Amino acid sequence: MPRATVIGSGPNGLAAAVALARAGYAVEVLEAAPTIGGGVRSAELTLPGFVHDVCSAVHPAAYTSPFFRAFGTGRIDWIIPEAAYAHPLDDGRAGIAWHDLERTADGLGPDARAWRALLRPLSTHIDGVQDFTGGSLLRIPRNPVTAVRYGLRVLEQGTAMAAHTFRTAEASALVAGVVAHANTALPSLSGAAAGLLLMAQAHAGGWAYSRGGAQRIADALADDLRAHGGAIRTDARVTDLSAVDWGDPRRGDLLLLNTAPRLALTLRDVPERYAAAIRRYRYGHAAAKVDFALDGPVPWTNPGVALAPTVHVGGTREEVWTSENAVAHGRISPRPYVLVAQPSVLDDTRAPAGKQVLWAYVHVPANSDADPTELIVRQVERFAPGFRDRILASHAVPARERVHLNPAEIGGDIFGGAFTMRQAFVRPVLSPAPWRTPMPGVYLASAATPPGPGVNGMAGWHAARTALADAGQRVELADLFGS
Ligand SMILES: Cc1cc2nc3c(=O)[nH]c(=O)nc-3n(C[C@H](O)[C@H](O)[C@H](O)COP(=O)(O)OP(=O)(O)OC[C@H]3O[C@@H](n4cnc5c(N)ncnc54)[C@H](O)[C@@H]3O)c2cc1C
Repeated sequence: MPRATVIGSGPNGLAAAVALARAGYAVEVLEAAPTIGGGVRSAELTLPGFVHDVCSAVHPAAYTSPFFRAFGTGRIDWIIPEAAYAHPLDDGRAGIAWHDLERTADGLGPDARAWRALLRPLSTHIDGVQDFTGGSLLRIPRNPVTAVRYGLRVLEQGTAMAAHTFRTAEASALVAGVVAHANTALPSLSGAAAGLLLMAQAHAGGWAYSRGGAQRIADALADDLRAHGGAIRTDARVTDLSAVDWGDPRRGDLLLLNTAPRLALTLRDVPERYAAAIRRYRYGHAAAKVDFALDGPVPWTNPGVALAPTVHVGGTREEVWTSENAVAHGRISPRPYVLVAQPSVLDDTRAPAGKQVLWAYVHVPANSDADPTELIVRQVERFAPGFRDRILASHAVPARERVHLNPAEIGGDIFGGAFTMRQAFVRPVLSPAPWRTPMPGVYLASAATPPGPGVNGMAGWHAARTALADAGQRVELADLFGS
């Protein structure tokens, strides 16, 4: 039986491992951390009984991803919130993006028509959008009409035109809050590309997340891997691949890297041209995160905000852009954009009765050692006076420390490489199949390959599929999981 060694147990590493184990490989996963999951880990970071997500918290991309759909959405207990995300404003107003597009549009008054025009064509053709964005962009889209519609909207929302799409502060802020996920200067085409996909997913599958925490996603994949003979070793950080016994590519053995691509350069005989391309690959700005244990729900001024597990805190579109542009210039805004998740509003397994968990991060320059706790508390207080008094405990991880949690988070970049327009195409090399390396049997299977960041398992699946095709096995998801 051929062997497959996967370095890293993030969602892409586990997706690749599951696919290869089901395709008949003897799979072993080597994970640096003491627990599995990479970006899908949960832990009691503050107090006993409070389950926090160490990295990702909300999983629209997983819920609608072709890989997870084939794996079986029923194997994870998904919560689909009625309110996907909310964006509070200073005077007690707020924009709410409901799962239901019509309800969202109706709530936006004079911007109802503009909201529908922006998002209905994308959410009703979400498969076409995801087909276009879910792999290498260097190929002809299967649904060119949808791809063009998406591209035109990216051009609008990724340039100064974005400031003129909506009349209300609510609608403008809703869009800015999602586009800002990309951690780039704004407006930006890459931010708009990521944001529009997320906004369309909100009205299609919904901004789902896993009951019990992100860890349940890793656990479901790991259970499947083990059921197909695979094994996972934790506390097994790899610093030199030339010292790893992963078999012999001439016998069909495989090595998949769910890590920063630069680990590949520790192999012997890496062609200089490839090594130079990997060295040119850039890491982006970073995130500084705080988890809170709360004595009760966040006292949002606008009650609608309390219904949404994801909240974009940071005021108007102009303020959000200013905050993101400060980071791009190496500074942290005193009133930063804060990405907040309050999963326990719909998941009572996350905290003791009557209590809540809150997950929040701000964007910061790479390698920043700033503790963002006070900045985040002040921003949330702005829209939820009394929040500070609800805090029982908090746990902060400055950007500089993130690499100790996950060696792939270089400088605190949580996306596996800057999400710029260039690196949407060159990820990490310019190729229609960048998962394949020039080293026989060696493949990249991480967010540093298309489709890039987000918990969707697709980079892992593409890497496994490419490796299987190179070995003469042409398989699709339905062959491995049944249709
Ligand atoms: C704070 C934070 C918040 C996020 N929020 C969201 C969100 O809400 N929704 C969303 O969809 N995405 C979110 N993301 C992004 C998402 O988590 C990542 O894009 C995704 O996890 C990437 O998956 P991956 O498998 O490629 O890599 P990772 O999840 O990064 O996993 C890589 C794994 O490889 C291991 N590893 C790395 N190097 C080595 C080595 N040398 N030896 C052995 N093991 C190694 C790491 O320890 C890790 O377990 C967030 C990320 C972070 C950090």
